[in-house]
Amino acid sequence: MTAQDLNSRDLTTIPHTHRKLHVVTHGCQMNVYDSARMADLLRPLGYTTVDKPEGADMVIMNTCHIRERSEEKVFSALGRLRVMKEEQGGRMMIAVTGCVAQAEGEVLAKRAPFVDLVVGPQAYHRLPELIAQAHRKQGVVIDTEFPADQKFDHLPDVAAPQGVVSYLSIQEGCDKFCSFCVVPYTRGAEASRPALSVLAEARRMVATGAREIALLGQNVNAYHGEGPDGRVWTLTRLLTEMAEIEGLQRLRYTTSHPNDMTEELILAHRDNPKLMPFLHLPVQSGSDKILTAMNRKHKADDFRRIVAQLRDVRPDIAFTSDFITGHPGETDADFEETMKLVRETGFALAYSFNYSPRPGTPAAALPQVPKEVKDARLYELQAELRRQQDEYNLSTVGLVTPVLFTGRGRYAGQIAGRSLYTQPVVVEHGAELTGEIHMVKITRANANSIVGTLINPPLIPPLSPPLSKEKIAA
Ligand code: SF4
Repeated sequence: MTAQDLNSRDLTTIPHTHRKLHVVTHGCQMNVYDSARMADLLRPLGYTTVDKPEGADMVIMNTCHIRERSEEKVFSALGRLRVMKEEQGGRMMIAVTGCVAQAEGEVLAKRAPFVDLVVGPQAYHRLPELIAQAHRKQGVVIDTEFPADQKFDHLPDVAAPQGVVSYLSIQEGCDKFCSFCVVPYTRGAEASRPALSVLAEARRMVATGAREIALLGQNVNAYHGEGPDGRVWTLTRLLTEMAEIEGLQRLRYTTSHPNDMTEELILAHRDNPKLMPFLHLPVQSGSDKILTAMNRKHKADDFRRIVAQLRDVRPDIAFTSDFITGHPGETDADFEETMKLVRETGFALAYSFNYSPRPGTPAAALPQVPKEVKDARLYELQAELRRQQDEYNLSTVGLVTPVLFTGRGRYAGQIAGRSLYTQPVVVEHGAELTGEIHMVKITRANANSIVGTLINPPLIPPLSPPLSKEKIAA
């Protein structure tokens, strides 16, 4: 079957109510949110989501451009979809969305002409119209424009329940232009969603079962949406209003940039009782020379100061971060600065990657650190981060802490939830407690989760710090 044959499918023969949609999501929580919204957009067209691509009428591959060889991974997954599409006689419509679609639109269309749609992150609200276009014309329909108006204004209300823990996108894009990052090129300039629209979506999420909401944005703490009073609302102001939503128990926000950690936001971790003691704050490197080369516009000591201030106002706050090893120009001494910062800070968890050149970004044109040097540094960093994660999880053993239950555990008789610090918690218990917060005594720490028992009789779950081992003993 030629690529042209594969692009001449006719969905009009499929009953309107029986179209199957499979969405594959790569990358960050923003993409998870976008995938859910695309499913919402297509529901009125008769698409219901299915777990597998086999037999689907439409497959959306929502891609991420941040990791090494991301394009190659997309192309190899597309190769497998092409086989399925052929087996279905070309009926399956394939859409590539997200940051790889934005960055590689034309290349994608040339290398994978059996794809029907290539849609950038700023254009997916036009999916129904683009699907109709794909029916009308041969070849790949590409939409990677950055529209002047905002995608958020065109999305339908959240339709499907998002779960006990829900993600709500409030800000998109970035003006910071870190030397290694494609986000400013793929997601465009920073844009914030109006506060009223965020609050309305949050209320709908709570009405359908959400008890914890994580506000999302590439630079979420740079949020500056228009408030109902016509003024610019900061993230702190928005969090204050969100805390008033009845039934909403927990708030988080991610991902933040150190330069936008304002004093009022730091104090919100003391004053907003629903804001969880947890912060994901990428620092990338501990070397000022490398931070300058990365165009991060902050120093390592700025990060240290923010951590100290937050620990001052909220002593139990847990930190997670992102690191890049082997950025062009990184010497052994620079890497040692990173290790020093990691050892000083103590992270509950952190993500670390070798630098990989992203075409079109400034750092891609510089002399590169040899791969074996990058690998050795990453190995050393990850060993220390793993040790810190184990140590952190172990430190919670013996605590009595409120756990928000999110559903059944992996094994029969288990229920699963999240601690204040986002650790997955597993409890042996037969009852259905989804959506409820109960006090749990932590009894064991595993590599990636903690295990506990329900406190009986139940204590009133506090919104603020967990009870210490000493308090429980008393
Ligand atoms: S601040 Fe974050 S999103 Fe913006 S350019 Fe830097 S790494 Fe990318």
